[in-house]
Amino acid sequence: MPASTTTAKTGKPGAKGPRPRHVPQRTCVVCREKTNKRALFRIVRTSDGRVEVDLTGRKPGRGAYVCDTPACWERATRTSILDHALKTELTPETKDALRAFAASIFVNRPAANADEKGETA
Ligand SMILES: [Zn+2]
Repeated sequence: MPASTTTAKTGKPGAKGPRPRHVPQRTCVVCREKTNKRALFRIVRTSDGRVEVDLTGRKPGRGAYVCDTPACWERATRTSILDHALKTELTPETKDALRAFAASIFVNRPAANADEKGETA
């Protein structure tokens, strides 16, 4: 039984070497930039019509993505971009909540043009 010709080094073909992994790309609804999914925040309209940030990325419902750029969140909460993307109307409360969320995620990341004016607490 000649078993010498069987490839014993690799069990599966292509198991070695860097295989380009498929990285899911999503488009920010504000700046339209395509980015790695992990760099975006998903905003979902749930089945009961509420709009909230989906940190798990798995909530059912219509989703829209906003990248982690303060300017995009600014626009997302001040314009009707998200309303269109989610095909609903965001209440002022929802936009306030999104603004608060954005403020919380960018609290440790000052905007690029932010000069220290001594206003920080
Ligand atoms: Zn963006």
